[in-house]
Amino acid sequence: MGETLTGGCQCGAIRYRARNATDPAICHCRMCQKAAGSVFWPFLKVPLSDLEWTRGRPALYRSSEVGERGFCADCGTPLTFWHVGAETIDLSIGSLDDPALMEPIRQHWAGARMPWFTKLAGLPEVGSSASPEEILRRRPFQHPDHDTGEWPNSGNLR
Ligand SMILES: [Zn+2]
Ligand SMILES: [Zn+2]
Repeated sequence: MGETLTGGCQCGAIRYRARNATDPAICHCRMCQKAAGSVFWPFLKVPLSDLEWTRGRPALYRSSEVGERGFCADCGTPLTFWHVGAETIDLSIGSLDDPALMEPIRQHWAGARMPWFTKLAGLPEVGSSASPEEILRRRPFQHPDHDTGEWPNSGNLR
């Protein structure tokens, strides 16, 4: 997994580049649920020295004695979890430009998993034919999934 990964927040105020990602996983713990605004947090691990912020910096929230979480102060996208003092940092898989590259290999805190988690893949599908082109027709303001300086509303960043 030595390839270079790029990603960033939804609004584009924060962009990053990372290398040497390992251990893609999901965490079901209650703190990750809250931090992600979801029912689990998909993340991978990179050495701190292999993470470069190429635009902006995350705002930080000290979520516990041992943890600090980074997010975009403009749009709220969860970006990082850092075990304070560690030489690695966790990045949210959803913030990657290509999240499909990082298939989780384990689940943390499975005891806090939603009781219906294993049923999700079998739910009836709505809008499953939506192509990336169809989504683009909604004229999203979010940053595209590649490094660029120009995108709709890019001038509105603080
Ligand atoms: Zn943002
Ligand atoms: Zn967690």
